[in-house]
Amino acid sequence: MSTPTDALQRLRRVHEDAVLSALRSAGALSRAQLTERTGLSRTTLFAIVSDLMERGAVIETEAAPAEPRGRGRPATLVSLNPAAGLLVGLDLGRGRVRLAVANAAHQVVATASAGLPEGAGPLEQAEAAVRLVREVAAERGIGLGALEAVGLGLVGVVDEHVPAVTLTGPGAPASPASREPGPGAARVPARYLPLVLRVAEEFGVRVAVDNNARLAALAEATWGVARPARDMVYVRWSVGVGGGFLAGGRLLRGAHGAGGELGHVSLDPAGPACHCGGRGCLEGRIGGQRLLDACAARGVALESLDALVTAAQDRVPAVCAVVAEAAADLGRVLAGTVTQLDPSLVVVGGELAALGSLVLDPIRDAISGQALPRSPRQIEVTQADLGVNASAMGAIALLLHEEPSIPAHLRPAIP
Ligand SMILES: [Zn+2]
Repeated sequence: MSTPTDALQRLRRVHEDAVLSALRSAGALSRAQLTERTGLSRTTLFAIVSDLMERGAVIETEAAPAEPRGRGRPATLVSLNPAAGLLVGLDLGRGRVRLAVANAAHQVVATASAGLPEGAGPLEQAEAAVRLVREVAAERGIGLGALEAVGLGLVGVVDEHVPAVTLTGPGAPASPASREPGPGAARVPARYLPLVLRVAEEFGVRVAVDNNARLAALAEATWGVARPARDMVYVRWSVGVGGGFLAGGRLLRGAHGAGGELGHVSLDPAGPACHCGGRGCLEGRIGGQRLLDACAARGVALESLDALVTAAQDRVPAVCAVVAEAAADLGRVLAGTVTQLDPSLVVVGGELAALGSLVLDPIRDAISGQALPRSPRQIEVTQADLGVNASAMGAIALLLHEEPSIPAHLRPAIP
C-alpha cells in the first residue's frame, strides 16, 4: 500500500534527481541557475540542495572571478562532490578491455587496460572487466562504495531486437526487466546479455551500454577535439571501421541501433561478401587486414596494423600509396555523410589517424570535391585526440548525458 509519506518521499527523490542530473550535465551551477534549470521553486530548491549537502552528495564552491564584480558577494556555486558518485566506463573491444574511472565532478581519475584471451566469450569478457575494475580500485585506493553506474562499450550493433535491460539501484534484480525502454534502459544484443548482467550483479548499480565507436564519438564531443561541436561526424579507422554521428548535440543511434555504421556502406554491390551480410563494404576495402594484404601484394609484408602505421610514418612508398588510396575511399563515403548531415567537424580516430595528413588530406579533398561543391561549407577535418581510451571515456560520457530527463511537471510554467 502506498501512503502519503511514500508519495512525498517519491516526489522528493524526483526533485533530487532533477538537481543531480542538472549538475551532472552542466558541472557547477549557482542556486539561481539550478532553479531555472530544474523548474523547482526557490524554496524547494534550497531545501533539496541543503539536504544533498548534508548527505555529502554535493558541495559548495566559489565562482571564479571571471565575470565583472557586481555589488553583491561573489556567487556560490553548487557542484557534485568529487568524492562521491564514482562512474566506471569499460570498453570491451577486440582482444582488450579498457577502463576509465571518473569522479562526480567529471574528472577522469584512472585509466587502465588488460588483454582478453583470443575468442573470449561474453562471460570471460565480463570476468576480465570485473577483475580489472577491482584491481585498479585496490591499487589506487578508489572506494567502489561510491560507485554509481557502469557504462559499457560493445562491438557491433546494439539493437532493439532483444529485451531491454533496465537495471537500477543497489540490489536491483539483474534480469531483463521490460521491453519498454525506461530511464537507464539499454537494448543489448542477445550475445552480450550475460556480460551485462554479470557486471550489474557484481557491482549492484545501473549499467548502460552502447556501441564503442559511437561512445568514442561522444567522448570526443565531451572531453576531446570536438568539444564545442554539436554536429559532427566521427570515424574510427582501425582493424574495423566504425563511426558515430552527433546531431544537435545528441548521439544518433538510429531506429535499429545501427546509426553511425560507416564501415558497412557498400562501395560495390558485386564486391566481396562482408561479415555484416552485405557486399563490397567500406570495411572490407580499407579495414586493417585488407590494408596488410594490399601491402603484401605490393611486396611489403607487415605483421600488424601498428607495423603498418610505423612503415607509413617511415614513408615506405608502397605503404603510403596503400594508405592514401584507402583514405580516398573513406573520403568518398564521408563526403556522402557530410552532404546529408551537414556537420561542422569530421573527426578521424583509430590507429590510422596517427598518420595525420597522409590520411586527412585525401579525406579533405574528397569532402571539398564531392559534398555540395556549389555550396562550399566550413568543415574541419581533424585527428581525434583521446587515443585508445576514447571508448571507455565515452562510456562515462554516456552515463553523464543519458540521465533521465526532467519530468514534464517540473518544467517552469509558461507565464
Ligand atoms: Zn559490411
